[in-house]
This record gives sequence, structure tokens and C-alpha cells, in this order.
Amino acid sequence: MRKALFFGLAALFAAVLCIASAPVIEAKTTFVTIGTGGITGVYYPTGGAIAKIVNKKKKEYGIRCTVESTAGSVFNVNAVMSGDLEFGVVQSDRQYQAINGSKGAEWAGKPQKDLRAVFSIHPESVTLVASVDSGVKTINDLKGKRVNIGNPGSGQRQNSIDALEAAGINYEKDLTAEGIKASEAPGLLQDGRIDAFFYTVGHPSGAFKEATAGKTKVCFVLVVGKGIDQLIEKKPYYAKSFIPVKANYPGAVNDEETVDTFGVKATFVTSAKVPEKVAYAITKEVFDNFDAFKKLHPAYAVLTKENMLEGLSAPFHPGAVKYYKEAGLVDVDKDGNVIRKSDAKKMGTVGK
Ligand code: GLU
Repeated sequence: MRKALFFGLAALFAAVLCIASAPVIEAKTTFVTIGTGGITGVYYPTGGAIAKIVNKKKKEYGIRCTVESTAGSVFNVNAVMSGDLEFGVVQSDRQYQAINGSKGAEWAGKPQKDLRAVFSIHPESVTLVASVDSGVKTINDLKGKRVNIGNPGSGQRQNSIDALEAAGINYEKDLTAEGIKASEAPGLLQDGRIDAFFYTVGHPSGAFKEATAGKTKVCFVLVVGKGIDQLIEKKPYYAKSFIPVKANYPGAVNDEETVDTFGVKATFVTSAKVPEKVAYAITKEVFDNFDAFKKLHPAYAVLTKENMLEGLSAPFHPGAVKYYKEAGLVDVDKDGNVIRKSDAKKMGTVGK
């Protein structure tokens, strides 16, 4: 009996020692889900890249990241706001419209006050492809054609409408507009069931590899002109952009190396309701492992830690700013302005 008691106590002592010397381990797991886009886009692998890096420290942070394929930016903003998702990849233009409740947007007159910026990611181009048989060479040739402008819930749908309007084309009257998911559009183009489709996405993307690799000859179409120039001028979130066609899509029939268009940025957002330590952990892991992260997709080649703070219009999540301060990337002044250290530029404000 005495002996049994002795061994029992010894085992207990050993167990206590073991716990005391182990690294701090979070007792309960926090599950966070990242909303992305269609599986042939760049958001889906982006969610995967972030989750992969964060999940390596699962024990330390007690955070388990999962990724969900969704309808895209508009869906993601709404799901983050309703609490169905903790994080989402969202176009910079949709972020701007959501936080401002911009006229003509999904959130017109209803600013999404709890939307918080974490960082921005790769550039995205408003990309238009058409079958060679359709004869479409520039956006102006889309009149009378059957065109996929994007599914409801996607970010690209509004870009397509903006681009068409800027080119003087009414999407409801002047063409047959389809609202199909980007993952299905390449198949329909190959089958001759649509003449062209728009997709706002980083490059390379699986969708355009698929669209340009089949029997039907396909070309990337210029999205340029006076109207487009005026659109870029008018909207703070649009900038000129180009698609590196030759380097990424050898199956396309274009002769030129690049095709001009305009674009936005992919950004990573969350809600004010998401705890500071969760936003901090994700930001820290992505930035501390920046080189490894950059290697996870060719669309990240242009990323720098500094430009990942650009293109954001919602207030920064305090957890993200805590990391940026610690890493010496920003200062925060007494009014809550987030100032980038490298060039003293104001990047935004800190949210509550
Ligand atoms: N930009 C698209 C959207 O917001 C998604 C692109 C992607 O999945 O890479 O819906």
C-alpha cells in the first residue's frame, strides 16, 4: 500500500514537472475559417497558403485554420460581417465600398463598420478572354455577344459591369450577360456556349490555364480606351494593370507578351469581433515567414512587406497593428493613424 502510494506520488510529480517545462500550449482550440473564391482562382490557394503557415504553430497559438471555397469577395465580406467566417480574401474595391457604404454597391448606405483590414496580397487584373471565332479583340466588340460577367457574390461581377459601362455597353441590353461561377466559365467558352468571360483574378490562375488549353482558340482581350481611362481616374481603387500572357498562358493565341487592362488588389479582412490575439497570430506568422509565404504562389512574386500594407481602406484590426509595430513596419500616432516607417506614409487608422 505504502509502495503504491509512493509510485502514485512520484508519477504525479513527474507529470507536474513535465507540464511546467513544456512550451506554453493553449488549452482550447480556436477554429478560424478563411473565405476564399472558386478553386481555379488565386484566393483559394491564398487561403491555403495562410492556413498552412498558421497551422504549423497550432499548438502554440491554439488556432486551427481551415479554408472554404466561396462565391468570392462580396460573399466573403457579408460572411465575415455575419460571423459565419472569421477571415476573408476580398478585392480592395469591394473593401472600399463595404466600409464606405458606397452608392451603387451591395452595401449602399450601409457601411460595414466592423470590417477590419489585416493586409493586402497580390494584384488582380480585370481579365477578359474571348474565343477567336467570336471576333472579339477589344472590350468594345462585346456588343451582341454572350458574355459571362460573373456570379452574384463574386468580386468580378461589378468590375465587368463598370468596364462595360465605361466602354458604353449596357450589360442588360447590349449583350447576353451570364452570371456563372468563374470555375465553370472556361468549360463553357471551350464548348462555344459563351463568347467571352470576365474574371478579376491574379495571374497565373487555373481558370485561364484551362480556358486557353483546349480545342477552341482563345485570346486575351484589351480592356482599354478613353472610357476606361476615365473610370480609373474616377475610382480611387482602380489602377492600370496588365496580364503577362506569354509567360503564363502559352496556349493563348495573343502575339504580344502582355495585354493591358485595369485592376485592383486582393486583401485580407476580418471583423472587429475577431479577438486581437487571433489577428495578431495570423499576421505574425505570414510576415515572419514572408519568404516561405511568397514561394507558395507565383502571383506573390511582386509582394513586399511594405506593399502588403497598401490598398486597404477599412481600419486596421488592432491585432495586425500590434504585430506591425513590433516588427518596426509602422508607428501609430496619438490619433490612431498608422504611419508606415519606410516613407512616413499614412496607411490608415487602427480600428477598435
Ligand atoms: N476576385 C475574385 C472575387 O473577388 C476572386 C478571384 C480569386 O478567387 O482568385 O470574387
